Amino acid sequence: MKQTYRKRAALFEVKKTILVVDDEPINRDILSAILKEDFEVIEADDGKVALDILLKEEQKIDLVLLDVFMPYDGREVLKQRQQNPKLKKVPFIVCTSDKNIEKECFHLGVNDFVKKPYENPDIIIARIKRMIELYEDRSILKEVKREKLTNFYNREFFKKYAQQFDSLYPDLKKDMVALSVNRFRLINELYGRDFGDKVLLAITSTLNKHLENCRAIIGKDGGSTFIVYSEHKDSYEDLVKEINASIKNIGGIGISIRAGVYPFVDPDMDKEIVIDRTEDTMDSSINDYSKKITIYNEEKQAKTLHLEELVNNFEQALDEEQFKLYFQPKYNITGEKPSLTSAEVLVRWISPKFGFVNPGEFINLFEENGLISQLDSYIFKKAAMYMGEWKKKYGKAIPLSLNLSRVDIYRPTLVEDIIELVDSNGVPRKDYFIEITESAFVEDAKEVIPVITKIRNSGFKVEIDDFGSGYSSFGALADLPFDVLKIDMQFIKAMDRNPKVRDIIKMIINLSKTMDTITVAEGVETKEHYEFLKESGCDVIQGYYLSKPLPLEDFVKLIEKEFN
Ligand code: C2E
Ligand code: CA
Ligand code: CA
Repeated sequence: MKQTYRKRAALFEVKKTILVVDDEPINRDILSAILKEDFEVIEADDGKVALDILLKEEQKIDLVLLDVFMPYDGREVLKQRQQNPKLKKVPFIVCTSDKNIEKECFHLGVNDFVKKPYENPDIIIARIKRMIELYEDRSILKEVKREKLTNFYNREFFKKYAQQFDSLYPDLKKDMVALSVNRFRLINELYGRDFGDKVLLAITSTLNKHLENCRAIIGKDGGSTFIVYSEHKDSYEDLVKEINASIKNIGGIGISIRAGVYPFVDPDMDKEIVIDRTEDTMDSSINDYSKKITIYNEEKQAKTLHLEELVNNFEQALDEEQFKLYFQPKYNITGEKPSLTSAEVLVRWISPKFGFVNPGEFINLFEENGLISQLDSYIFKKAAMYMGEWKKKYGKAIPLSLNLSRVDIYRPTLVEDIIELVDSNGVPRKDYFIEITESAFVEDAKEVIPVITKIRNSGFKVEIDDFGSGYSSFGALADLPFDVLKIDMQFIKAMDRNPKVRDIIKMIINLSKTMDTITVAEGVETKEHYEFLKESGCDVIQGYYLSKPLPLEDFVKLIEKEFN
């Protein structure tokens, strides 16, 4: 019996749950013994208790076996059921040997009867199964549990059954697997839906066949995504290979799938999250058809999620002024003692959610999705405002350097915007320095040079940042529009390890002198750095040796001390 049931089910089917209601413990025991192979059994010793269980819905009851003579009478339960649509959804079988009672119960809407005493277990089981099927077929018409084409569970039911799968096999190690057809939407568009369906059906039958002897449940999550919750396997290579073989030749256009695996699912984790993560893992290789299976990697995933969160919080952070300007002083070292000349503005994100975030974490990210433009606009504006305030207060402007992203270059009104905000704050344009990294100059020369030239011709100063990292030829340097050359801090770092680097630094400083530009060294961390740079004729230094980037209040204190 059990064997054939298994076979028909092929894959894992959740056991149906039967509520046995009888006040005689012995009757409950007998029924439980008969049913427990094929069903989950819950017992209630009274009609009232049964109603409680049914209405609470902590567990889905698929059928009720009801005794009649109990302190809270079975007929009373049936009467309640007639008035409650929720209870009507569950089939009721009454256990009795009394013909009159049968008649009465029949009028109360009962679905079937089994005879007491329980002499023929097989018949009881068959009746119960038939009744459940009948009811399910009825309810399927109302709530769609399976996807039409593949007959796999939809996401909602898949989740439910995955949960039940866990309670049924609590000690079994399980994996969540997601599979999707590469470029499925395109395939559908180019070759039509019927063609797409053919592909999905081929995958369906391969999945069914491959997982036949496995404890697994299969779901379909929209579009072309299949989800499998299965007992753990060391590898899904074979499965993916088989599926790919089964679809490769459909229409002769070389179709393939990608897969994501979340191994050893923690049964306590919300299935919604597990499925999402598995699908995200699968999609991480969406543009790489050579990568067939991607295994979930907690660290990587956490990082991706973190970046996503940063992006999602951007607008609010900007509104709430969570982005703060820090100021790293730059010192002129051509005199006897270093003297404060200006500062570089460096952004910090001080977030109630993430704490103190360094630009290293988000500048690249915001460059990728274009948010950097909004951020830089904000920083540029704030900087001009502070400069205006200080000029009023101290009688002279303190020059500031602003970092311009290469993405900003593509904003058509960039130069006009900068002019507007600098002029409107009464700041001399010559005190407003724009830093742009050398690699942007070199790699996007065609777009960058005209804009930077315009900035410079408008009276602002331009610094080439990270010089030496972008491999521009020294010859080409002469044609670039800039006023300050900032040596890449890697050279200063490397100086300690490799004495030859000192020669390179000297060469850059001399090069800068021949072009009449000011040389700045950043990342100056030690007295030794400072002395070497001073000796070599470097004009300005910036680095932890003299000062870290400072928050507004500290920088204001510093300028008051220096300028008053
Ligand atoms: P950068 O323009 O090369 O800025 C110099 C970086 O070196 C800063 O890192 C600064 O804090 C750090 N630094 C300063 N002195 C020392 C030192 O002595 N030793 C070492 N090891 N490091 C030092 P930060 O602030 O994390 O900024 C990183 C990068 O983010 C910047 O590199 C810049 O490219 C970008 N960035 C920062 N603020 C902005 C901004 O407002 N807009 C744009 N577009 N980019 C920004
Ligand atoms: Ca910079
Ligand atoms: Ca730099």
